[in-house]
Amino acid sequence: MDIEFSKEDLEFQKEVRAFIEKNLPTGTELWTKRTRWFDALRKKGGWDIPKWPVEFGGPGFTPTQRYIFDMEMGRCNTPPQLPFGVGMLAPILMNYGSKEQQDRFLPGIRDGSVNWCQGYSEPGAGSDLANLRTKAELSEDGTHYVVNGQKTWTTLAHIAHWIFCLTRTSGDGPKQEGITFLLMPMDDPGIEVKPIITLGGSHSVNDVYLTDVKVPVENRVGEEGKGWTYAKGLLIHERTGLAGIQNSVWALEKAKDTARSVKVGKRTLMDVPMFRNKVGELEAELMALEFTELRSLASASEGGDPGPESSIMKLKGTEIQQRISELNLEAAGIYAAPWGTQAVGHKFARGATSGYLGGRATTIYGGASEVQKDVIAKNVLDLGS
Ligand SMILES: Cc1cc2nc3c(=O)[nH]c(=O)nc-3n(C[C@H](O)[C@H](O)[C@H](O)COP(=O)(O)OP(=O)(O)OC[C@H]3O[C@@H](n4cnc5c(N)ncnc54)[C@H](O)[C@@H]3O)c2cc1C
Repeated sequence: MDIEFSKEDLEFQKEVRAFIEKNLPTGTELWTKRTRWFDALRKKGGWDIPKWPVEFGGPGFTPTQRYIFDMEMGRCNTPPQLPFGVGMLAPILMNYGSKEQQDRFLPGIRDGSVNWCQGYSEPGAGSDLANLRTKAELSEDGTHYVVNGQKTWTTLAHIAHWIFCLTRTSGDGPKQEGITFLLMPMDDPGIEVKPIITLGGSHSVNDVYLTDVKVPVENRVGEEGKGWTYAKGLLIHERTGLAGIQNSVWALEKAKDTARSVKVGKRTLMDVPMFRNKVGELEAELMALEFTELRSLASASEGGDPGPESSIMKLKGTEIQQRISELNLEAAGIYAAPWGTQAVGHKFARGATSGYLGGRATTIYGGASEVQKDVIAKNVLDLGS
């Protein structure tokens, strides 16, 4: 296994750095000039969709180039794309969708004009997702399904134009069978979205109620009853993405800068040994995680699968994200208390509590930590079934 970058990889790294330097909007422009940024990425030859295969317009990066690309983008905190279309639905359509579905949906996903949300979880079906009960019944003439049920924790359903849903078309046999993957427009009169306000005080997740939603069979992806297979194959990639390693590298550097700006007597918080130790531990763990990712890339370069290390990355990556938010909270001290109102004291303190509270969810979504530990125990440590 070789985890050193080759000469070509180092050249590529230079190219990515130069591109960011030239094109990334700065300061307050960063979020308002998103479109310009994504246009530049697109013109560069599919850099806006780095993980898509060449035949769908992707840049054809090798696994190592993808790592370098993600690392450089993460370190500069470049604007992210919403994950549901580009990262989740698109690969399912590419692998299992019809040509018509690919032609119809992929362009809107790529240019961001159509927002998607993910309707998997339900009350009573989260970690044990195969328990889902949202029912889709095929009409007698076989032209459409009628869908009834409830989805929950649906991120950004309130701004989504479409939802991709796992539904139950049969209750016979093992519960993983009889699950069907359907696409529905959110403006259907049978779809109602109700907000859930989370601990951090923000509105990003929702309940979605489905009442007699009529879905044409053309909106079914793949075969009836095979939805579980389609959804499951992509979980490994979703987990790797959720680890957010490169972004944590950036966030930790930022937390250190913040701590340097906080005075403690004649020193700064960064000079306080207890705080410094925490930063040091986090840096070491983050570096270890980067090496885990590199090992997984080395195996992918040799044709292997990402495999169960995606669970290690999800588990550790999200814990690290939470611990960085704890450092920010500690740096803000009492000034973190009036969150959600006007800043008092340090300017950075305003987002510290909401960041900390909002970040609790990272070890739940995309498969809770306990579930990842189960996967690691069985598939990495071979601790039996
Ligand atoms: C902010 C946020 C955004 C989300 N966005 C979406 C979305 O867009 N679309 C979507 O479909 N879903 C979404 N989810 C749902 C998410 O995937 C589920 O919350 C997650 O899978 C856990 O399911 P659950 O909430 O039903 O908890 P449960 O599965 O009921 O788990 C409760 C607790 O029991 C533990 N547990 C469960 N099973 C085991 C086991 N076998 N062994 C040991 N411990 C276990 C869990 O780790 C957890 O601590 C989101 C969740 C959050 C919090």
